[in-house]
Amino acid sequence: MPTPLTTSNLAGRPVFEGKLLIDGQWVAAADGATLQRKSPAHDQLVAVYAQAGVTDTERAIAAARKAFDKGEWPRMKGADRSKVLRRVADLILERKQAIAEMETLENGKPLAQALAEIEGSADLWQYAATLARNLHGDSYNTLGENTLGVVLRDPIGVVSVITPWNFPFLIVSQKLPFALAAGCTAVVKPSEFTSGTTVMLGQILIDAGVPAGAVNIVVGLGHVVGDVMVSHPEVDMISFTGSTAVGKAAVAKSAATLKKVSMELGGKNPQIVFADCDWDAAVDAAVYGIYFNAGQCCNSGSRILVQESIAEKFAAEVVERSKHVKVGDPLVAGMQVGAITTEKQLHTILAHIDAAKAAGATVALGGAQITGAGMYIEPTVVTGVTSDMAIAREEVFGPVLAMLTFKDLDEAVALANSTLYGLSAAVWSQDFSTCMTAARRIRAGTIWVNTFLEGHAELPFGGYQQSGIGRELGRFATEDYTETKTLQMHLGARTDWYLPR
Ligand code: NAD
Repeated sequence: MPTPLTTSNLAGRPVFEGKLLIDGQWVAAADGATLQRKSPAHDQLVAVYAQAGVTDTERAIAAARKAFDKGEWPRMKGADRSKVLRRVADLILERKQAIAEMETLENGKPLAQALAEIEGSADLWQYAATLARNLHGDSYNTLGENTLGVVLRDPIGVVSVITPWNFPFLIVSQKLPFALAAGCTAVVKPSEFTSGTTVMLGQILIDAGVPAGAVNIVVGLGHVVGDVMVSHPEVDMISFTGSTAVGKAAVAKSAATLKKVSMELGGKNPQIVFADCDWDAAVDAAVYGIYFNAGQCCNSGSRILVQESIAEKFAAEVVERSKHVKVGDPLVAGMQVGAITTEKQLHTILAHIDAAKAAGATVALGGAQITGAGMYIEPTVVTGVTSDMAIAREEVFGPVLAMLTFKDLDEAVALANSTLYGLSAAVWSQDFSTCMTAARRIRAGTIWVNTFLEGHAELPFGGYQQSGIGRELGRFATEDYTETKTLQMHLGARTDWYLPR
């Protein structure tokens, strides 16, 4: 089992200072307020930000509005927007080490993982750059000889981009380049716990040639800054990733001005393991699927559904492998799992473990906080879980695996579909029919077949049910940031309404 941790001393490392990006300028908050961030892995101060209030947020929205209504960005050729987005990607890669370190210090994730995420994010900017040149509408030459119909794609306008703390740079990169590719302007609010890499992105945008006001960044609290961003009449669309509860409240608030919404929310994702699975691959995916990013992942495989005939042996093997997962200082090479990102999340996870015990489940491994500096939780496996227990239905968002069993495919699919979520799922079987039948019947936005947690810019991502509304990524991602406009054109003399004369 993990022993008490010792962590790097960050003394001597400069504290990052971030301001607000409004209309192309880095500025302090109007009231001078600041916000501090400590590393959750080291319990030491790593960043100080200007903290936006209502006035700053309104200024940021006004700048984005002006840049959209009068500025060059929405009016540029797609090819020119594409060039700028490609420059952003190049600069991300040039600065990836510094960005990854910031991500690790604020989020607590292993540095090598952060680096891979920054590289993956650059790929999203590159992919969006290709879409900037391919966004187009449609035409109808089939409406009779006097009529031509043309369908235009117009950028929707000002987009509020609101992101969470678990994949700060990756998630803003799933949204912003696609909104920009479409010709929108934006106000971006990172999580107040992990604002650093979004602020670094702001400087990259300036250096790459994104015009002043096209992207504005406001660091601040959700119920202050976020609240203005989802309710302000000058905002046309909200692109939000976060918890289902906050997402629902944001949609409700936005309804007063009927904004378009794109919501990426929570998940309680099952991995279904059939008796004929590739054993080693399935065990590995069960372990990776729950401990990656310390389980703080909307796509975590937080429920393992195992066929009864192999359940006991499978659980024993998962427990055994979990004992060897390396948890600790994310700046130390070789660590697989870092810190829990926020204190609130730490307590939420521990409360879920206690509730599972009280409901009659067995904590087969772990279950406690690891002592020492920083916030870490032991890899935890909970067995004997039934579908009525909260641990089987609610998002824990931590390194806590709930294991359930099933008899046959029908029961597996019923269990998979038994929560209010529908973000992703995996099916493990060497039988093609089993995989395809399950994949077609599970109600989730992504189904992995004999693999887990893969992602590609080309493939759409999003949830069914209370996991969200809309899809990010994929070739239609830019279309989400557009309005459709119909042009109906009459050719030749028009027939008079007052017939006959
Ligand atoms: P959160 O909902 O607490 O916060 C998300 C963002 O919303 C933050 O920037 C926060 O400041 C802001 N916010 C908070 N209150 C607000 C309000 N009243 N109005 C507007 N904005 C407000 O989520 P979190 O704790 O940062 O992230 C964890 C959650 O995110 C998990 O539930 C996870 O499943 C979800 N998530 C989903 C996906 C996905 O793509 N489906 C990806 C990552 C995370």
